[in-house]
Amino acid sequence: MGTSRDERRRAADAAVAEVRGIYADLARRPLERACTLRTECCQFAITGRIPHLTRGEALLAARAFRSTGRRALPNPGDGACPLLQPRTLRCLIYADRPFGCRTHFCDAAGGPWPRREVLELIRRLEAIDARLGGCGPRTLQGAVADALAHE
Ligand code: SF4
Repeated sequence: MGTSRDERRRAADAAVAEVRGIYADLARRPLERACTLRTECCQFAITGRIPHLTRGEALLAARAFRSTGRRALPNPGDGACPLLQPRTLRCLIYADRPFGCRTHFCDAAGGPWPRREVLELIRRLEAIDARLGGCGPRTLQGAVADALAHE
């Protein structure tokens, strides 16, 4: 019989796989969007907007961050996303970036996705969040820091 730690690990593994599946489903949607890696949307202090993550997204982001060999989330003084590499200005977890980073407001990428186009995917992310005992989407910094602390 597994320990509760093993069970939590299995639940986290399943959630991460499901979140990746949701991101893949989004990528298959016919609406064209083209992120050109301008990273303007990663400058939270300038945009005034911060992506909010469900718990499954935060777990995936935390694992992707760890896989870069880093442990603690930095606290950039310029108000940028802590997952933005300051030297290269590249997202450290681009392949696993959160849903909001894929569907947000960036005009250069084609503007925000209409909510009705992605509502069912949002519901699936929320269902994973509820299953993991989350309390709904939280700001990227807090959600990822928490996932790193409890993973
Ligand atoms: S997670 Fe990556 S894409 Fe999203 S805001 Fe942060 S650096 Fe930008």
